[in-house]
Amino acid sequence: LAAEAQHFLKRPAVTGDGSAVAIYINVASPDELAEIDPAICDGIGLVRTELLFHGHHGLPDEEQQHGAYKRILDWAAGRPVIVRTLDAGGDKPIPGLTIEESNPFLGLRGLRLSLKRPEVFRTQLRALCRAAVAGELKIMLPMVTVPAELAEARAHLDAVVVELAQAGIAHRRPPLGIMVEVPSVAVTPERFAADFFSIGSNDLTQYVMAAARDLNSVAHLADTGNPAVLALITRVAAQGAARGIEVSLCGDAASDPALVPHLLRCGLRKLSAAPAAVGRVKAAIAGIDLRS
Ligand code: PEP
Ligand code: MG
Repeated sequence: LAAEAQHFLKRPAVTGDGSAVAIYINVASPDELAEIDPAICDGIGLVRTELLFHGHHGLPDEEQQHGAYKRILDWAAGRPVIVRTLDAGGDKPIPGLTIEESNPFLGLRGLRLSLKRPEVFRTQLRALCRAAVAGELKIMLPMVTVPAELAEARAHLDAVVVELAQAGIAHRRPPLGIMVEVPSVAVTPERFAADFFSIGSNDLTQYVMAAARDLNSVAHLADTGNPAVLALITRVAAQGAARGIEVSLCGDAASDPALVPHLLRCGLRKLSAAPAAVGRVKAAIAGIDLRS
């Protein structure tokens, strides 16, 4: 199988019956890209930015962030790159930023925290708008739960773009998309006026199945292949297709060859996987016949 995965690694992903599937990768830092050939993917479907915020010298400033985002865009060489704004909290505590809560998965995490700390959020948005002149950067918001949060985030982006323009600083306004990982969004995606959707199957599964993603004792329940989770994924894919909004999936399910056939049958044609899983996932896709 390793040889088979190698064979598919740098080829476009196509099902046995000829449907093209775009394969993106998930990354957490520019350093990890040194080992990866961009030819294995159609772009980066998720840049997790939490690692940048774990330095020993406090939160990264605008220059540090700009440098990191620019390196990632340079590596991608024109391929699209979706950078997610800070998703602190939950399973990703960040000293000096997140607060202690009895139930962190249901607390102040992701965009909820960014909106409480607008100075931290705006610094990241400024760095992203500046880096966006170097490639196809898109901004993605984690843990969106209600439309008002998307509107508030968009207002911050508007303000940052005006600020940069007035200061004569080179920038571009990137598309603004959202993670679909809270059931409120997956059940009524039509309420969210985002430029694109990316399904976070890790969190979506834990919230639909009421089984924490980090607990071994309930791991058998935290199953993205459960019909309830797949029904929501199907709903989001159909909504996106009906409105002409791109829908991808960037949770761990996209790296699991056993789950990939289910994801394609839900209507998805864009998956973002762990770099090490790309060959395996493409091999699995080649073996799928969507007509049967
Ligand atoms: C997810 O929740 O599926 C996801 C991709 O984000 P993270 O694993 O970083 O929470
Ligand atoms: Mg998540």
